[in-house]
Amino acid sequence: MNKDKTIGIPKAMLYYTYFPFWYGFFNELGITIILSDNTTKKTITDGASLVVTETCLPIKVYVGHVLNLISKNVKNIFVPSIQSIAPKIYNCSKIRGLPDLIRNVVKGDFNIIEATFDKSQKDNDTDDFLFEIANQFDIKDKEKINKAKKSGLIVQNNFNTMVLNGLDFDCALDYAKKGQILIPPKKEDRPIKVALIGHGYNIYDKKVSMDIVKKLNKMDVEVFNAHQLSPEQLKGGLNCLKTSLYWANQYEMTGCAGHYLQDDKIDGIITITAFGCGPDSLMLEDIRRKSKGFNKPLLNLTLDEHTGEAGFITRLEAFCDMLYRNKRAKMQKQRLKEEELLSRL
Ligand code: SF4
Repeated sequence: MNKDKTIGIPKAMLYYTYFPFWYGFFNELGITIILSDNTTKKTITDGASLVVTETCLPIKVYVGHVLNLISKNVKNIFVPSIQSIAPKIYNCSKIRGLPDLIRNVVKGDFNIIEATFDKSQKDNDTDDFLFEIANQFDIKDKEKINKAKKSGLIVQNNFNTMVLNGLDFDCALDYAKKGQILIPPKKEDRPIKVALIGHGYNIYDKKVSMDIVKKLNKMDVEVFNAHQLSPEQLKGGLNCLKTSLYWANQYEMTGCAGHYLQDDKIDGIITITAFGCGPDSLMLEDIRRKSKGFNKPLLNLTLDEHTGEAGFITRLEAFCDMLYRNKRAKMQKQRLKEEELLSRL
């Protein structure tokens, strides 16, 4: 039985998808959340030192966040195993085996609060998953757990509504935590628009992504991502690329790419993938092959702990310069066409 009513949540991996829910859920249960600190160079180095070199960067970052929580004396660390989010739709083996991985590589005085979510198993129900978590804090009252689930869903839905409307991750989370919704005014129109395709943990973690959104905004580039699309739009994107669904995060990669490839306002696509990620390399290859018919420039940036910021910026700048040149050429062509039409009048 766990008398300590605190839970440490690593600010990595699935934090970027489900934290709003966990915030509402644990608070309603009276469990205090302790978050790890923002990712730093030390987080990455510490995490990388415990796993084999070939491991993908997000897992190294995750391990680093667990170590950060342990250094804060957090005794309960939340490491769920999210196996499958819908029948026959799976997470990668590393996400699925996260509790085992942490148990095996991180030594220290802490408990792993774990439970398995597996929608491909007939008897695996969301309520059972939540009860399993609450039970580890000796909370067995089903009504209380159900109420906590509802609170979690409210925070998550509010958060989703705000990011869908273009509010950035941190701002949307702040408002959702306060039980508020802010719909941002329409963004100032920037000359170039790109779709940034990648997992939430690679895009929103500012250290991991080298703050790519801010860098692009500084180049006067407007950025769109998967979280500004509805589930229907993501499904439409997958259909457009004629890709069948297997990976849980295929919506935010292939579905998102498929949607923005068809979108005329988007000038180019940037994919951001992790070195050593099997699903990413398969999805990227699929996107690359099928994007050829859409006539949109595509840049892939691969992240690992050695990715240098200077080289990263150079590649971004070169890509955006090319998008600006393309746009100017397109506008000039359009102007000439209009002038020619006028001269015939
Ligand atoms: S999907 Fe790829 S990047 Fe994410 S945890 Fe799995 S292997 Fe790593």
